[in-house]
Amino acid sequence: MFGGFPFEEMFGGGGGGRRRMPQEDEDPELRDTEILYKTLNIEKSASATEIKKAFRKLSRKYHPDRPNGDEAKFKEIQEAYEVLSDTQKRELYDEGGMKAVKDGGVETDPFSALFGGRGRRRGAPKKEKASAITKTIDVTLDDVYKGPTVEWQYEYLKCEGRKTCSRCDGRGVVMEVVRQGFMQIQTQRPCRACDGRGFTFAKEEKKRATARVPVPEGVRHGDKVTLRGEGHDIPGVDRGDVVVTVRVRKHKVFERVGADLACKKTLTLREALCGHTFTLEHVSGNSLKITSLPGEVTFSGAIKKVADWGLPQKGGHFAKGHLYIKYDIVFPVTKSISAGDIATLDAILSRCSYPEIKEKEPEIEVGARVKIVNLSQYPQFNNKRGHVFAETRQGRWGVELQNGKQLSVPAEKLELIADTPKPKRQKSNDLEDDDVYEEEVTPELIEGEPDTTPAVSASAAYDEEEQQERVHECRSM
Ligand SMILES: [Zn+2]
Repeated sequence: MFGGFPFEEMFGGGGGGRRRMPQEDEDPELRDTEILYKTLNIEKSASATEIKKAFRKLSRKYHPDRPNGDEAKFKEIQEAYEVLSDTQKRELYDEGGMKAVKDGGVETDPFSALFGGRGRRRGAPKKEKASAITKTIDVTLDDVYKGPTVEWQYEYLKCEGRKTCSRCDGRGVVMEVVRQGFMQIQTQRPCRACDGRGFTFAKEEKKRATARVPVPEGVRHGDKVTLRGEGHDIPGVDRGDVVVTVRVRKHKVFERVGADLACKKTLTLREALCGHTFTLEHVSGNSLKITSLPGEVTFSGAIKKVADWGLPQKGGHFAKGHLYIKYDIVFPVTKSISAGDIATLDAILSRCSYPEIKEKEPEIEVGARVKIVNLSQYPQFNNKRGHVFAETRQGRWGVELQNGKQLSVPAEKLELIADTPKPKRQKSNDLEDDDVYEEEVTPELIEGEPDTTPAVSASAAYDEEEQQERVHECRSM
């Protein structure tokens, strides 16, 4: 619905999620929750269909069999798709990056903080915390506007009476002696009595609680809200947190661009020329009555701004973004207008001014004649003329000089040489010029898509098909 909407370019892409501070002892890229979305060139709120579409488009473009294929990039695209196309993996990725996907969860072991070495930094006598309970909540743009409080029930672990494990003496591991022939081999294995924790609890129970999460106004997709000390309750460490990741769902009318809102509106030609009023149901719950100025002409593709009717800026103290409306104009489906009406319309429209209609600028393409300019490393080729014979790498063209030498030249170092206009034929000395004439034609309107005429006639096409089949047979053998 919003394909090709230019707002993304206007604002340089939507606001992504906040980057989590990485732990000191791990690769921060593993915690990143945005790279995969960037690889597929989509927003974090993209739907499953959008993900699939982006994947198809990019994998076609970078497939190693294609002339401009890129195997490394192709692999990256496939890997990103593998995670983002799987609802469960995507959820894990959004919460904790590739680390969470690989671990199959975000620190699900509430006791992990109690272990000696793991995750604890040397020389930092900081008190550890039970690991967080994580949860993803879905909100609408209406919620982003209002900042509601979301409630749900959750379970946390409550433990009492911590005791050092008597079996392993708190080490978490036990030594085992295995006899092999004359040899005695001592091995170490995790203690079964305490699951390798080194301690046990007299009482371990699951408790239910209600979480109340104040969703901040202007919350972004991927933002996290932490309920401090409402998670697992384990003696010996600080009580854990409940960490909520906010996922903003797509809206059927509005698209979010930072704190701005964007939508599309289709007007009839009459409304575009003679003025219009329409109502927009805003995410605030209010109705916006949108009216054109007297005498104003709205053209197709026009973008208008309604100031301060965007979303609240997060932490912006009542500051709001704007609402942008992009207009599309439809023409009447009436097939014919009476001569009298045409005279009236023509009189009116002839008094209007119109934008200049430009012909397409010539571009560098295979076959184009070019001149090499501004080469600094190989100045001997400057001002040499030739023609483009291939597109080599991105932004570079293969140029064949007049002496047959072939070079790869960046596009900005090439100047197009305009084709010299064909000399006009002189009627008197060319007999075939009787074939050249001017004819007045009136095109007819077609319904839907045109039926294309095959380049080769039906009977000839039959032969070609047979030939192709033969080639195919050879290949499959
Ligand atoms: Zn033990």
